[in-house]
Amino acid sequence: MPFSHLGLSDPLLRAVAEQGYTAPTEIQQQAIPAILAGRDVIAAAQTGTGKTASFVLPLLQKFSQDEKTVRPKRIRALILTPTRELAEQVENNVQQYGQYVSLTSLAMVGGVDPEPQKQGLIAGVDILVATPGRLLDMAYQRAVYFDELEVLVLDEADRMLDMGFIADINKIIERLPPQRQNLLFSATLSDEVRFLAKTTIHQPVEISV
Ligand code: AMP
Repeated sequence: MPFSHLGLSDPLLRAVAEQGYTAPTEIQQQAIPAILAGRDVIAAAQTGTGKTASFVLPLLQKFSQDEKTVRPKRIRALILTPTRELAEQVENNVQQYGQYVSLTSLAMVGGVDPEPQKQGLIAGVDILVATPGRLLDMAYQRAVYFDELEVLVLDEADRMLDMGFIADINKIIERLPPQRQNLLFSATLSDEVRFLAKTTIHQPVEISV
């Protein structure tokens, strides 16, 4: 199946072609149409399967169809990742795949000066990629608001649980609008991950690759 069959717009297909991707991977073939259709998704997929593009591309597609011109922009998608490195890598992918659409993204991670992150939020962010600890700090400081959040992505959910982030994740989720799309990606769907999914995700499409 070619990328052009997935319902993605030309600016995204162009960016994907420039990455040298010739065809969507299995997870991309299954997840992209489901996410574009507005479904919640729970996916068992290891790193290396192309899972990042499988949620980043449909987010870019949805948000670039109806760009919000209101300033300051509020966060439309929150991607939670277990580590700083992964957050930075995912945010890099958002930049690469989104180079021909005008959306903004920011990586909000611990261990670095929070001031530039605060300035970024003030300037306006469509897609925020964050680690749970730093994000919660920012929320407590009232530096970040989620009142226009449309999509929550939990990336590498099993690792986030292994690293003890469950309490932080729950505190973050409590602050999100209840009406939203939820996407969960995990290498394994352990009992703990399924429990998190049960309390967070509604009638999901389940994908396993
Ligand atoms: P991920 O599983 O998201 O960590 O992606 C693993 C690697 O696969 C990354 O280096 C991506 O750039 C690459 N990749 C993602 N989608 C495709 C695709 N459709 N064709 C070829 N490579 C891809």
